[in-house]
Amino acid sequence: MENEIDVIIKSGYEKEYSDGYPLVSKESIVDVSGIDEEGLVLNLYDAKKKFIVKAYHGNQNKGFGWILSTDKEEQIDKDFFKQKIVAAIEYRKEYYDATDTTAFRVFNGEGDGVGGLTIDYFDGYYLLTWYSLGIYEFREYILEALKDVIECKGIYQKKRFDAKGKYLDAKDDFLFGVKAPEPLIVKENGVKFAIYLDDGAMVGVFLDQRDVRKNIRDTYAKGKTVLNTFSYTGAFSLFAMMGDAKKTTSVDLAKRSLPKTSEMFEINSIDATTQEIVVEDVFKYFKYAVRKKLLFDIVVLDPPSFARSKKHTFSATKDYKNLLKEAILITTKGGIIVASTNASNVSMMRFREFIKKAFQELNVRFEVLESYSLPKDFKVNPSYKEGDYLKVVFIKKL
Ligand code: SAH
Repeated sequence: MENEIDVIIKSGYEKEYSDGYPLVSKESIVDVSGIDEEGLVLNLYDAKKKFIVKAYHGNQNKGFGWILSTDKEEQIDKDFFKQKIVAAIEYRKEYYDATDTTAFRVFNGEGDGVGGLTIDYFDGYYLLTWYSLGIYEFREYILEALKDVIECKGIYQKKRFDAKGKYLDAKDDFLFGVKAPEPLIVKENGVKFAIYLDDGAMVGVFLDQRDVRKNIRDTYAKGKTVLNTFSYTGAFSLFAMMGDAKKTTSVDLAKRSLPKTSEMFEINSIDATTQEIVVEDVFKYFKYAVRKKLLFDIVVLDPPSFARSKKHTFSATKDYKNLLKEAILITTKGGIIVASTNASNVSMMRFREFIKKAFQELNVRFEVLESYSLPKDFKVNPSYKEGDYLKVVFIKKL
C-alpha cells in the first residue's frame, strides 16, 4: 500500500511495543526523515528486520503515533475500524440498555484499540473527537464504519489537534444526519444535562465524573452546604441539589459558567436564583471566604491540570497541595473535600501524598473515605497507565 512505510526502531523498544504499550515515541525510531505525513501507516521492525507492530503516525502531545495491530498483514481500512467499533459497542451494552443515563463514552482511544479517537454518545447523537491530524486522515473509513454499525440521529465532530500552535477551529462540527436541538437534553442517572454539540471545544459535561456525581448525590449531599470550585456548568452542584443539599455555591472564572449553570438547574426544576453562582478566580474566592469566615460542609476541587488566569498559573503537579490547603481552611470540621485531578502525570500515590502534606502542614487530621478512577465506559489499556488519568478522593476533615 502506498501510504504504508517500513520503519526501524531502536533496540530496547521491541519488548515494550510487542508487549502492548500502545504509544509510539519519536525517540524509538532510528530515522524519522521518511515519515513526512501524518496518517502514514508505519510497520515497525527491529534492527534484525523482524516485524514488531503496525502503527499510524500522528502528533499528539509528546506522542508520535499509536499502535494499531500486531498483524503485519492487517489492512488499516474501513473493516479494521468497524471491528474495533463493534467490539467497543458490545462492551458498552449495559449503557445502551439503560434508560436513566443517555450520555456515555462509546470509544475511548487506545483503550479500545485506536489511540487518538474518542466517540461519545448523547441521546442518539454521536460525537467523534480527533486528537491528531494523523487519525483525522482516517476519518472517511471511521465515519463509514460507524454508520454501518449504529443507527443515529446525527453525528458531530471536534478537532482537537494543533495547527501551527492553534486548534483548528473550522466551523464544521456537524457531519451527518439531523442537527441536534440546542440544547440537547440528555440524562445521567435520571438528572438532566443541557448539551451543546456545536458550541466550541466543550459540550457542557465531562462524562468521566458520572460515578462521582452520583456518589455525591446519593451519599453525601443531604442537608449540606456545598462549594463547587472550577465549576464549569455546575454539574457537581446540580447533583448535590438533586441529593437535597441545603445550598450550593459554584465558582468559575469563565463568564459562560453563570448562564450555563443556571440553565442546568432550571431544566431540573431547581430555581437557580436560590443558588450562588460566582464568576471569579477561585483563588480570589478562597481569600474572600476566609475573610468572611465562610465554611462549607462539602468542597469540590476539580481544577484543570493546567490553567492560567490573570493573576495565577495553576499546575496540578506544583500547586495541588496548596489548593487543598485553601480548601481545608474553609471546610467545616467533619466536612468533606472531594479532591479530583485529571493530570495524567500525577499518580494516585502522588496525589495521596499531596493530600497528606496539605493536612499535615495545617496540622489538621483527616481520613480518606473512598476514591474513584475512570468509569467503565472510559476503557483503559492495561499497558498504558497514563490513560487511567482520573483520580478522585473523598476526604473527611477531622
Ligand atoms: N468541575 C467541572 C469541570 C471543570 S473544567 C465539572 O465537573 O464539570 C475546568 C474549569 O476551570 C473551566 O470551566 C475553567 O473556566 C475553570 N477555571 C480555570 N482556572 C480557574 C480559576 N483560576 N478560577 C476559577 N475557575 C477556573
